Amino acid sequence: MKKKFIKSISLLSILIISLLIPNSTSFAYVFWNGPISTPKSIGIYCQSLAYSSQINTYAKKWNQCPEVYLYESNSSIAKIHSLVSSTSSGSYATTYYYGDDNKSIVFYKAWQTSSTAIQNETIVHEFGHALGLAHTQSYNNSMSVMREFGFNYKAYPLSDDKAGISALY
Ligand SMILES: [Zn+2]
Repeated sequence: MKKKFIKSISLLSILIISLLIPNSTSFAYVFWNGPISTPKSIGIYCQSLAYSSQINTYAKKWNQCPEVYLYESNSSIAKIHSLVSSTSSGSYATTYYYGDDNKSIVFYKAWQTSSTAIQNETIVHEFGHALGLAHTQSYNNSMSVMREFGFNYKAYPLSDDKAGISALY
């Protein structure tokens, strides 16, 4: 969830996880949910044709992590679905969890009206959630596309994100 102004519910999860794991300052990435069961074969499907090329292109930036491979598939076998909605929300986009192998991303009106740079970084961010990452700890914002607020203007996984994927998969 890339929020514009208000804190997301994921922050609570981060705080709880931090309390449960000793020495949590030794890393920054945080897991949101379990890994996708077929990390080297992750079908993605965007149902909004006007945006599918852009969304799939930036989703596949995660293929810079050798542990995962995302490819465009048909809807029936896709494990990560996406769509663009004209609905207004408090956020640019939200990733919904229906199971480790069933995630759905909705990009809202604020995303549509944002700059291309913000759109692209938000795409990478949301697919990071879909792969199982939560927001990073804030002190590592400059090393992660999974920062909760603000942007690095780098639309690809950064060092903290790659470490998180490596640990998860
Ligand atoms: Zn988020």
